[in-house]
Amino acid sequence: MKSSKASSAEDLLPERVPKGLYYGGEWHRAASGVITVSSPSTGAELAQVGSASAADLDEAVKAATAGQKLWGRTTPRERTLAMREAANVIRANKEELARLDALDSGNSLKGMLFDVELAASLMDFFAGLATELKGETVPVGAGKVNYVVREPVGVVARIVPFNHPLMFACAKLAPPIMAGNSVIIKPSEETPLSSLKVAELIGGLFPPGVLNVLNGGPDLGAGLSTHPGIASVSVVGSAATGRAVMRQAADTLKHVSLELGGKNALVMFPDADVEKAVQSAVKGMNLPWTAGQSCGSTSRVFVHESLYDTVVDQLAAAFDAVKPGDPLSPGTEMGCLSTRGQYDKVRGYIEIAQNEGARMVAGGDVPEELSHGFFVRPTVFADVTPDMRIAQEEVFGPVLSVLKWSDYDSLIEAVNGVDYGLTASVWTRDISQAMHAVDDICAGYVWVNNSSDHFLGTPYGGMKQSGIGREECLGEMLSYTEQKNVNITFET
Ligand code: NAD
Repeated sequence: MKSSKASSAEDLLPERVPKGLYYGGEWHRAASGVITVSSPSTGAELAQVGSASAADLDEAVKAATAGQKLWGRTTPRERTLAMREAANVIRANKEELARLDALDSGNSLKGMLFDVELAASLMDFFAGLATELKGETVPVGAGKVNYVVREPVGVVARIVPFNHPLMFACAKLAPPIMAGNSVIIKPSEETPLSSLKVAELIGGLFPPGVLNVLNGGPDLGAGLSTHPGIASVSVVGSAATGRAVMRQAADTLKHVSLELGGKNALVMFPDADVEKAVQSAVKGMNLPWTAGQSCGSTSRVFVHESLYDTVVDQLAAAFDAVKPGDPLSPGTEMGCLSTRGQYDKVRGYIEIAQNEGARMVAGGDVPEELSHGFFVRPTVFADVTPDMRIAQEEVFGPVLSVLKWSDYDSLIEAVNGVDYGLTASVWTRDISQAMHAVDDICAGYVWVNNSSDHFLGTPYGGMKQSGIGREECLGEMLSYTEQKNVNITFET
């Protein structure tokens, strides 16, 4: 990648971001280690931020433990007020936060403005759930009262990926904090800037030690997963990282929650509304949002043979029409890939698909005028068969595979014949057909005649290698509690 100088607008933003580690309500210089953050769209260096060592982590856990003791005793109203205020502050800084994420991740500004709104909505949603930490009473006979209360687990570590930096930092801190825990957020080492800004903006709205942000890579992730002072660890990331975190957390028997990858199917039945289904297949790839780098992207489209040629032509035209451009420009339809690793991986899969015999009908190349960044044109492969790597493995980029089907049982076998089970989208006007497919498809989040949208308060998460646990719902907040059963005997 050629290097190029960032524009003056780009120079400005990272200057306003703290570069240290935030814990105990204060900024700290990392004991050793630095992460260089650069722009994937220009190659310009944006900042050097401190990288937390094992000693830094120990100090942060001490601070988080102390903060949790105070926070765990607060009333539901106090928690709600603090989280609502935090959501308002995030909203009030929407432009700057979105620009930081566009700069740091290469996602489009349009997409990142949406992410800031989504982040604030999720914080508001969890702020409203403070009184839902309810227990229950259990009948056990005369002379006894038996009841169950929920208590916070303690210090919670949340490890997040690069694709929605601000949105994940905010959405993941809210449920454990509302349940009375303290949190250590570890942003991706590739995109830490907006999380640092979040700490600066809202850290002081909570008692010291409640919200902490530590930068670092896999070593810090491993430290968080093994630290005896941390009760719960969750990761949003790849299946390989999920497996590593689960193994690492075993010795201290932490609560573990995993939101991992996807290889999601969108199925068109013969009676599908083709125009809407094609639009949905494009929307389902989340191109304007994250250049396809979304776990929920519907990257396998199964089209009935009666519609196949028409749909392939329409998808090719629709993908060709999406032009990658400068992530920071408000009119940009799609930004770039977030990291060198992502860029190499996506280009590698385009080559693999061609070698395996898939037919490239759109994209596949790098826009000449954008060769200074990690830009790849939205790409469609037709004539993909279920055994091809492009149909099995998560590309995590703007690459769509189209598969032809004719027989329902073979279709379901192919849809379910991958390691993942995160989302699926079914297109038919026949409600019975839709309900059969919903029953038969192994996925945690299913749309009928829609794709991509998330609905506040509904459980989001995956089956099989897509993870363990559900998020964006009441269950997520409750997963950061322990149940305590109390049995009282009294004189009758
Ligand atoms: P990644 O797994 O490489 O990294 C995710 C985070 O885990 C980063 O913060 C990283 O530093 C950390 N990490 C890496 N190795 C670790 C280890 N051994 N122990 C502890 N932490 C470790 O993922 P990525 O490349 O940043 O993100 C892309 C992946 O995330 C894709 O697979 C995508 O599908 C998945 N994802 C899932 C969801 C979901 O909700 N299911 C949402 C977004 C992304």
